[in-house]
Parts: sequence; structure tokens; C-alpha cells
Amino acid sequence: MPGIMTLPEIKVPGDIEDVLNVVKMKNPAEPEFHQAVQEVFDSLRPALAKHPEFRAARLLERIVEPERVLMFRVPWLDDQGNVQVNRGFRIEMNSAIGPYKGGLRFHPSVNLGILKFLAFEQVFKNSLTTLPMGGGKGGSDFDPKGKSDNEVMRFCQSFMTELWRHIGADTDVPAGDIGVGGREIGFLFGQYKRLANKFTGVLTGKGLSWGGSLIRPEATGYGCVYFAAEMLKSRKDSLEGKLCLVSGSGNVSQYTVEKLLDFGAKPITLSDSDGAIYDPDGINREKLAWVMELKNVYRGRIRKYADHFKQAIFMPTETTLDHNPLWNIRADCAFPGATQNEINAKDAANLIMNGVKLVAEGANMPSTLDATRMFLDAKILYGPAKAANAGGVATSGLEMAQDSMRLTWSRDEVDNRLHQIMIAIHRNCYETAETYGTPGNLVNGANIAGFLKVANAMLDQGLV
Ligand code: NAP
Repeated sequence: MPGIMTLPEIKVPGDIEDVLNVVKMKNPAEPEFHQAVQEVFDSLRPALAKHPEFRAARLLERIVEPERVLMFRVPWLDDQGNVQVNRGFRIEMNSAIGPYKGGLRFHPSVNLGILKFLAFEQVFKNSLTTLPMGGGKGGSDFDPKGKSDNEVMRFCQSFMTELWRHIGADTDVPAGDIGVGGREIGFLFGQYKRLANKFTGVLTGKGLSWGGSLIRPEATGYGCVYFAAEMLKSRKDSLEGKLCLVSGSGNVSQYTVEKLLDFGAKPITLSDSDGAIYDPDGINREKLAWVMELKNVYRGRIRKYADHFKQAIFMPTETTLDHNPLWNIRADCAFPGATQNEINAKDAANLIMNGVKLVAEGANMPSTLDATRMFLDAKILYGPAKAANAGGVATSGLEMAQDSMRLTWSRDEVDNRLHQIMIAIHRNCYETAETYGTPGNLVNGANIAGFLKVANAMLDQGLV
């Protein structure tokens, strides 16, 4: 027809490299997203060879494209009456197996690429949990550090004033992540309820008296340690007496330390963005309670630990160093619990040289691609984030189930379910790695098992 232009035919990408190149071209300046996609794609080769139907349906290109990306202005007033403006996001990545599910991160480093990497990871992680949850992630470049409670409340209310129309108990169910804990979830839920005029399980990580689940705050850290115990069991070993490095000092790290103590291990480090503490005597329950008060009530810095407990030393963050001294302390196990890419190749080399037997990732993508390859080559027990830290979102799934049934399970009931889920995730990753010819490689096991469930659901549901 005259006047209508036809588009040139698009070449069907041949293989993984082609799709990865397209991802890099179409999403420039998003290195974390490229990294997350590359890690998954590297694992998928044996699965794609066995399943030509995925290639025909261009599954890889579809799965890297978010179903929906929301980006919005978040204006708010600070305590001095000045106008502040932040940027809000929600990435609704994939809903093939359930409503979008994933946390909100409030941190000045937040941008589209970081949230897309987190949302992409979340799709496979949620698939591994055995529960029906799709993948999403969101947040803002707002920094809650140093803000008053009133400022945090005004920000959360403004953020939710846009977000509420896009989410819902059967549509998209956000939760916490870095910078979003019980206080922020409370303010967000209050505003949602006011705008929607509905009391539903639209967020997880809620307070116990208003729809929250017991064990949800503990779940990511506990789950990571349950996963580590399973990994060690596969080599007839246990956590008893193991020296453990833990990074971060927020939600995930605090409950990692607590569960390590339950298993008879000896955690010896913690950190925040200012630096790390090393306590050669070990962080016992009394010291952990002190850290929890410092972090959760006073919102203080970890350096104070070394002022209070004299045998501990504080190592300030040095941006000019090519490695993190925390990962250069002799230990048996490492539990990164702070943020992405906190273990680089030099750190991985230090950990391996110092005899670390196990790395279990509480944080999301804490190891660079080089560090990951070094752990796999060294054949140490390596539990990738999407498996090892899936306990948090799994327990969010249990919170959603309790909300739907309008009942509350006991602490033991939820903890038991969490423990069983972590055992099942480990078994699934372990067996899938064997089935696809890479025994012991839990990265491949997690990526392939997570992918297959979502990919098959996408095929079943047609081209949507
Ligand atoms: P959190 O309570 O806010 O704690 C984050 C910790 O990491 C703090 O100690 C923080 O130090 C440190 N940190 C954050 N960004 C950093 C940076 N750029 N450099 C150095 N240190 C940094 O958050 P969280 O919930 O524990 O989350 C920690 C990690 O676990 C994240 O990767 C998150 O995605 C992952 N994760 C969390 C959950 C969950 O249920 N919460 C579930 C799965 C995975 P400062 O206070 O100095 O910033």
C-alpha cells in the first residue's frame, strides 16, 4: 500500500552469543544486567542443546526483555521544607509462573541496569523456590541513611502514590531489599491501604500484627546457612567449628550470623560501606544482639563495634586497594551479604589461597564473573545467590499464602517449611547439574533448573 513502509526483516539470532550481543546493544550502560544475563546464558548451553524448541520460540530473546518497566518521579519535602526529587522504578520482568515478586531497594547507587539485573535474577530464583511466583524488582536512588523517620515516611508515601496503581496481591507483590526494612514496608503499606482502600497481602515483610509472617525477617540469612549446611553435607562435612567470614551487617548478614551460631560455627567478621570489623574471638549471641541494636535501632556504623569490643579491629574501606581485606582473613567459609560485585578476582584468589572450602551468597551477585569462574575451577563448594539466598523470597511466598488464607502459622511451622525448601532447592540444583553433565556445578544447576520451569510455562502460554 502506498505510504506504508515495511520494516527490514530482522535476522533470527543463531545462538547465545548473538542474543548476548543484542542485549548489550539494546541496553547500553547496564553492565550489571549484561553480567547477570551472561552468567545465566553461560550455564544454559547444555539445556538448549537438549531443547531445540526454545530456540525456535526465541525464548532467550523473550526472557531478557522485561514484560513492563515503570519509571517515575518521586517528589517529597525534607524536614527543612526543601523540595527533593528522586527517581522510582518497578521492573515487572516475568509473570509466566505467578505474580511478579521481588524486593524494593532504596540506595543512591540504584539505576535501571541494577534493577534489571536484580529482576532477571529474581525470575530464576523464584522459580527454584517451588512456589508460584514470577520475577520483579524495584526501588529508588533515595538514600534512607541520615534521614529522619518523618523524611523516610514522606518519601515512602510519595513513592507509593505512583506505585500503588501497578501492584496488587495477584499482580505484583514487592518486598524489602537494601535500605527497605520493616520501617519502610510499614510506611509503604499504610499509603497503599489508604489509596486502594483494601487490606491485602500486596507487600511482604509486613509487621506481625498486620499480615506479616514469623521468620520472614530471618529467612534470607537462615536460608543461606541451611543451604550451606546442605552443600557441606554433600561432602560429608558440617558447619560445626567452622570459621566464617560474613560481609554486610544488615538484615541478611545479621541472621546469617545468628543461624551460624545455631550450627556451632564461629562468625568472625561483619562490614558496612565504611569498612569491616574482624573479631578473632568470634561474634557470639551477646555481641550479635549489640550489633542488631546498633544497626536496627540507632542506625549506627559498624566501626563502633571495634570501639566497644576491644579485641576486634576495624579495617576502613580503602577505594584505592584492589581487594577487600575482609576476604583475606583465614577462614573455612565465606558468606557475602552486602551487595553486588563485592568479591572480585583478587578477593577470590585470596579466599582460595587461604583455604576457604565454601562460599554461600546471601547478597545478590556478590561475585564478579571472574571470581565465579575461579570458585568453580577450584572446585570449592559454591552456592550461587539465586539458590543460596532464595529463602527470603520463599518465605515471602509463605507470607502470601498465609495472607490469602487469613491465618498465621507458628514460628516452627514457617522455619520448618523454609528449611525443607532450602533442602529441596539444593537437591534440585545438585541433581540438575549432574543431569546436564556438570556434577557439583551448582551455578549450572540453579540456572538450568530455574530456567526450564519458566521457559516451559512461557511455551505453554503462547506468544505473550
Ligand atoms: P540491608 O539490611 O540494607 O543491609 C545492606 C548491608 O550491605 C549494609 O551493611 C550496607 O552497608 C551494606 N552495603 C550496601 N551497599 C553497599 C555498597 N555499595 N558497598 C558496601 N556495603 C554496602 O540489606 P539486606 O536486605 O541485608 O540486603 C543485602 C544483600 O542481600 C543485597 O544484595 C540484597 O539484594 C540481598 N538479598 C536480600 C534479601 C532480603 O530478604 N532482604 C533477600 C535476598 C537477597 P551501609 O549501611 O553502609 O550501606
